[in-house]
Amino acid sequence: MTKESGKESQQAGNREITPQSEDFSRWYLDAIRKADLMDYAPVRGCIVFKPDGYELWELIQRQLDDRFKATGHRNAYFPLFIPESFFEKEKEHVEGFNPELPWVTEAGGEKLEERLAIRPTSETMIGHMYAKWIQSYRDLPVLINQWANVVRWEKRTMPFLRTSEFLWQEGHTAHEDEADARRETMQMLEIYKEFAENVLAIPVIAGQKTESEKFAGAVDTYSIEAMMRDGRAVQAGTSHYLGTNFATAFDIKYLDRENTQQFAHTTSWGVSTRLIGALIMVHGDDKGLVLPPKVAPMQAVLIPIGPPAKRESVLAKAAEVLADLKAAGVRVRMDDRSDLSPGWKFNEYEMRGIPVRIELGPRDLENGQAVLASRVSGEKRVVALDNLVAEVEKMLADVHKELYDRALQFMNDNLRSVDSLEELKANDDKLRGFVLAGWCGSRECESKVKEETGATSRNIPFEPGETKSTCLVCGEGAKHTVAFARAY
Ligand code: AMP
Repeated sequence: MTKESGKESQQAGNREITPQSEDFSRWYLDAIRKADLMDYAPVRGCIVFKPDGYELWELIQRQLDDRFKATGHRNAYFPLFIPESFFEKEKEHVEGFNPELPWVTEAGGEKLEERLAIRPTSETMIGHMYAKWIQSYRDLPVLINQWANVVRWEKRTMPFLRTSEFLWQEGHTAHEDEADARRETMQMLEIYKEFAENVLAIPVIAGQKTESEKFAGAVDTYSIEAMMRDGRAVQAGTSHYLGTNFATAFDIKYLDRENTQQFAHTTSWGVSTRLIGALIMVHGDDKGLVLPPKVAPMQAVLIPIGPPAKRESVLAKAAEVLADLKAAGVRVRMDDRSDLSPGWKFNEYEMRGIPVRIELGPRDLENGQAVLASRVSGEKRVVALDNLVAEVEKMLADVHKELYDRALQFMNDNLRSVDSLEELKANDDKLRGFVLAGWCGSRECESKVKEETGATSRNIPFEPGETKSTCLVCGEGAKHTVAFARAY
């Protein structure tokens, strides 16, 4: 590509991303296409994770995996195919998942005696196996996680956020008693929250799902919920206390310390590639992606600049700088293509959300300095070359903090509380953000909110900030203060 055509596509590039305020969904699709994270697969609702998208997932995966291992979990792998009879053992579970299950009915040129579901989640398969592995209290707890793909035939799909096949992790644990299983359920929710905040720079609301929103087969479901920049919510992770429901269905029994048979108490918890969609929708802007530094496949891009005559000395220094940064563990690449203008490159890496840009030109070289530019604030810092690694690391830390603070501010600005359905509907036909309201606990009142506003109960926050006393629909006494929102 020549300099000129580079400039043309720079202008075209700006036009090709629809502004967020004009059409947020279009913005999202434009931004991920321009950043080359994914492509649409020939099968409806499925996507291809291209290397930049997949690497985001790998970085999420690695940092979550470290946290799972640090809390005593180990990884295993269970089969993709689940016999139909397994689903029939847990009634609520089969009812919850049945419409979304794809079935294998033929294989090896023959009709199968029993249909096989492609796993939507693995409680049944793992329940079956745990029943074989667990005999005594000495076998407990079992703390296993699986990294896998699952399939849920979704009606409405959106790249990363909701796809028919997605990648995830599913933790499945078995415990001696309720207290231990509940401790595990909350520990994993807390890990998700800490990870969302400290790694993805996404503030979340942690809480308990209502009866109608909980996982099919669970006693209690807990979630973390995040706020996208269009004011819609995303369920970013879930942790379930399954009681003895699956243990009873699959006969996961053990001899306790008094030599009596007991059912184990189990949990499951998962996050998926939806997190990629969430981090894009939380942090992105009209220029495109803004990647949180801790999961950015490229944290910094080094762009040598200046006239051809001075090029060699700049490139030599740039190579040194690059090596120092890499040795310090910074995920950095140099773009030294000579046929593209610096302006084109600046635009390109902004669109792809690279947190820090490092500019190095002949004048900088003379002064022993480089220029750092932040993707989130646009701030430029002139820093000493001798101190470059520390300065880049500092700017990465600052970008993380600015992203988190900005997202938290946005979430707080878009959180309000109401006393009635009328108040919820009034002056807000495009309901945005989280709405706190009292709820009596009845299914009717909860579904009325959904019917009339499109908002669903996201969760019952552990820390709502205020406690509402009456139900927003019927006006009776409130049992809970619920966070409602329209959700992806
Ligand atoms: P669940 O097993 O339903 O509790 O879901 C576990 C995790 O997977 C949650 O974080 C969900 O938000 C996420 N998830 C559920 N369905 C999808 C989907 N179709 N695409 C991507 N992620 C999903």
